[in-house]
Amino acid sequence: MEEINILIQENISIVNENIEKALSKSGRIGENVELIAVTKTVDLENINIAIDAGIKSIGENKVQELEFKIDQINKFVDYHMIGHLQTNKVKNLIGKTKLIHSLDRLSLAKELNKRSKKQDLVTDVLIQVNVSEEESKFGIKVEEAFGFIESILSMDNIRIKGLMTIAPHIEEEKKLRSIFRALYELQESIKRENYSELSMEYLSMGMTNDYIAAIEEGSNMIRVGRGIFGDRNY
Ligand SMILES: *Cc1c(COP(=O)(O)O)cnc(C)c1O
Repeated sequence: MEEINILIQENISIVNENIEKALSKSGRIGENVELIAVTKTVDLENINIAIDAGIKSIGENKVQELEFKIDQINKFVDYHMIGHLQTNKVKNLIGKTKLIHSLDRLSLAKELNKRSKKQDLVTDVLIQVNVSEEESKFGIKVEEAFGFIESILSMDNIRIKGLMTIAPHIEEEKKLRSIFRALYELQESIKRENYSELSMEYLSMGMTNDYIAAIEEGSNMIRVGRGIFGDRNY
């Protein structure tokens, strides 16, 4: 147990060092990158070790697992829903998350707005963009972003806080970076519209295999699972 303990602590230190290096390499000294520890399939003991080692944000991709962990972890951390969200699960989630990263369709926006209104809350969301247009991935296309935003701006009980993407598993660094850059540029062009109802505070991109490139291309929120807890055994 002691060994796993040290391993998780070391992994977190390595990620934090890499964040700092990537920030300084890209001239973003003094800026922050929020590290979300992705805890899917990770048990409570190891999650608590990570929290004791400084983790402040937890990410899960399934509502049920997120609910369970929120219930069981009695420490002061933020929770992020990062996975595909079924409309019928929305009601279980309202009021529990700092951010929902996976807003990818109008029907989901409507349900989030309706359920948030019922509880007199405003839910903060990121729009998931499928930059590479992979068949297997959720998210709107880049060219759909403005239309999508404009169709949900009038929804008072959800608040858009930025964008999220999941990059494809590709080795080619140049191509990977062009995907991250495209999301960064989309964020910048949305900012230029000066919508009063939304902010582009968060750019959630970068996972274990690609977070350094993502930060160098402008990410300020990364979602790291295996890089902290080791390989998942499903
Ligand atoms: C699992 C997952 C991650 C973390 O992936 P790792 O490769 O373990 O870092 C990040 N984002 C989403 C949406 C995920 O489902």
